[in-house]
Amino acid sequence: MHKQTSKGWRRKTAALLAAAGLFACVPVPAAAYDDFETVTAQVDLPLLQELAVTRPEGKASTSAANYYLTGSSNPEEELTLNGEPVSGRGALGSWGAWVALSPGENTFTLRNGAAEETVSILKSAGAGEVETTTVLTSQTPLYDVAALAGEKAVFRCVAPAGAQVSVQVDGETVPLRQKVAAAVEGVPAVFTGEWTVPDGGGVRSLGPVEYTLRYRGETSVYPSEGALYAVGSGETLLVQMKDTSSTVFRESSTSSNFMATAKAGAVDYVQAIEGNMYQLGMGGWVLQQNAQPLTEAAGYQNRVSDVWFESDEKAERFIFNGTGQPVFTAYQDAERLHIFFPHTSGIDAVPTGSSRLFDSVRVSRQEDGVSLDFMLSEGQTLWGYVVEYDGEGSTILTCKFPPRRAKGSQPLAGVTVAIDPGHGGEDSGALGITATRGATEKQITLATALAVEKRLQSLGASVVMTRRDDSAVSLSERQRIAEQAKADFFIALHANAPAAGSNGLKPNGVEVYYYEDISASFAGTLLERMVSETGRSARWARYSNFKVTLNSYAPSVLLEMGFLQNPAEYDDMCSRRGIFRTANAVADSILAALD
Ligand SMILES: [Zn+2]
Repeated sequence: MHKQTSKGWRRKTAALLAAAGLFACVPVPAAAYDDFETVTAQVDLPLLQELAVTRPEGKASTSAANYYLTGSSNPEEELTLNGEPVSGRGALGSWGAWVALSPGENTFTLRNGAAEETVSILKSAGAGEVETTTVLTSQTPLYDVAALAGEKAVFRCVAPAGAQVSVQVDGETVPLRQKVAAAVEGVPAVFTGEWTVPDGGGVRSLGPVEYTLRYRGETSVYPSEGALYAVGSGETLLVQMKDTSSTVFRESSTSSNFMATAKAGAVDYVQAIEGNMYQLGMGGWVLQQNAQPLTEAAGYQNRVSDVWFESDEKAERFIFNGTGQPVFTAYQDAERLHIFFPHTSGIDAVPTGSSRLFDSVRVSRQEDGVSLDFMLSEGQTLWGYVVEYDGEGSTILTCKFPPRRAKGSQPLAGVTVAIDPGHGGEDSGALGITATRGATEKQITLATALAVEKRLQSLGASVVMTRRDDSAVSLSERQRIAEQAKADFFIALHANAPAAGSNGLKPNGVEVYYYEDISASFAGTLLERMVSETGRSARWARYSNFKVTLNSYAPSVLLEMGFLQNPAEYDDMCSRRGIFRTANAVADSILAALD
């Protein structure tokens, strides 16, 4: 995915060490937690403990050579498949079997005590049943996007093969063509069409684009989610970053190296557009979906009039009163915090006043911006930092002190932990082995998060939850909740799933993902503690850019607790015992990080 930088080498090593189970410090025996009932009281996940086949649901046909049968059973009774005991089975009765198919009808009979179920799978030479549609979907733009005068704007949607599709934009009608001929009328097919953006001057919003579908004598209209913006020739296009944190890439491809993290509210001009990406004035590339085109003239030049310093027991802040909100680049290491503010002038010096963290700030003005090196004082550690904009031209840099382990029975007193239960609402996440009839990912992550909350509170911590019920919360909102709380740790909880239709018995184990250097060692510790607490295997602690982990203010990780299609792990993740142990592993990792 990305070129090996020195940073890359270190990360690779972390992953390798984790895989070898050698990572992290000498294991500290998990504290003897004796409050199982309290911590897991709220766990009430739907469990199916009678014989049922959840995959396939009813008759199935496929051209594949193998099939992953799954279901539930009464764990007290033996379970056989065509007379043979089923080996892939969890403690709560869920099961999976990877079966070979022969051409024609394949029949599988499950017996579990007195219960019996038979399913049949047709192995056909060709593909199974063909699905058709009568509606139009995925019509672009899916978000507000800008296109330059004279350039081609491409409209795309999915509609029934054989239909007629056209687009109305800026008072014009653009016919769309079906990209690929289809053997069967009505199957979902991609339609595209091009339109040369007119030069109407300025930066104009043309509003959502209207798609008209004519199919089987019916005519229906579908507006696009996003609006199209036309940028007149010679005009400067400004964009404002939408999400709490978004990745800035070095090149116009998301597989290129990450350059920076752009914060909500940052404004920059666009110097080039390629595919679905904008190149900003500061040189990096951002996804168009993360950047809102602006029509009114907003300032991107940041003229700083003064800088002042303030602090409290948790952090020190540097406030730059200016006129712009630049997309900055930054990194921290053992000696300094380095920040480059593009399009910025007026900073001659940065007062460090009574700073305990820094003994000086080196200011170096560059062609189009200013570099600041906040030099750490002897023996000081910077836990993390965050840059925010107040929306009136001020940029606030917050630099956090390391949280401390408190004495006594509340070692996490004064420590704030953000817990993010993955998915929620309409987004169920991945389905478990019992499909929609048992606990789904969103339910398992919430039940586990509530137990983690109880565990951490029992140790004195303040816990910030990004959701505490089955509500839908955007990734950006989850980031905002945790960032606003200036949490000392951020942990997103998820559960893994292999490729659909693959052998779910194979992949198992725990994965941890991190983005910032400050999160690498915590990721390794959490992996090691999850393995020693739950007994699941260690897959890796690995660098990646999951949106919710793009935090520089605290160690931030995404924990894949185990595999939902693996019966043993699924049942353990649904069990109070497994959830209790995960809660303890999370707590012990935080305690270890404070040592
Ligand atoms: Zn997930």
